[in-house]
Amino acid sequence: MDFDLSREEVLFRDSVREFGERYIKPHWVDLDEGKYSLLELIPRLAEHGLVGLTLSSKYGGSEGSLLMAAIAAEELAYADPSLAVPVYFLLETAWPFIVQRYAKDSVKEEVLTRLTKGEAWIGIASTEPQGGSDVAGERTEAKLVNGRWLITGEKNMVTGVSIALRLPYGGGFVTITRTGPLRLSIGL
Ligand SMILES: Cc1cc2nc3c(=O)[nH]c(=O)nc-3n(C[C@H](O)[C@H](O)[C@H](O)COP(=O)(O)OP(=O)(O)OC[C@H]3O[C@@H](n4cnc5c(N)ncnc54)[C@H](O)[C@@H]3O)c2cc1C
Repeated sequence: MDFDLSREEVLFRDSVREFGERYIKPHWVDLDEGKYSLLELIPRLAEHGLVGLTLSSKYGGSEGSLLMAAIAAEELAYADPSLAVPVYFLLETAWPFIVQRYAKDSVKEEVLTRLTKGEAWIGIASTEPQGGSDVAGERTEAKLVNGRWLITGEKNMVTGVSIALRLPYGGGFVTITRTGPLRLSIGL
């Protein structure tokens, strides 16, 4: 098996490294202390095709592979590890990827096209007051009532609410709910 990066992946890796050096490294302490807002960084990440990297070009995404997303997270981590994994990798790549795969077309067109421009935020609301690691033990329930999902429960530790409130289009959160004793569903 060949584990070497392709020429395209090497070029991509180098460009993300340069991006991190230029736009993130000088600000990592301020980012950590809340003196430099992610709101300033999100449009730059979007300009460089790093928001919604794995999304279809139909929604303004870069059609990147999951390997490219991993390369991007690794390179951004050289500039600021606390930004790379939770913010970039999970919020900008993983949850939008779930939306692209499972949401209705109208939701995808409305939300993902704004996300890739850096105008919207997609996060996750999974953790509940009793714990976060055991997602199969989640207590929030979703019931279908007159063709619409009625969700009852409590989520906490949701990252990005204050950012979503300040972005031009706001944001949404993928959530995990129980639809029966053993089945889980992903709500969008
Ligand atoms: C900065 C930050 C941002 C976050 N953002 C979000 C967010 O946007 N959305 C969201 O939904 N959540 C978010 N979280 C919550 C995070 O996902 C949870 O903290 C995480 O899932 C762990 O849950 P917990 O803290 O409740 O710990 P618990 O699940 O209560 O676990 C406590 C300890 O027990 C261990 N443990 C748990 N179950 C087992 C087991 N079966 N066997 C052995 N050991 C076990 C765990 O490893 C851990 O050490 C965020 C957390 C932080 C710190």
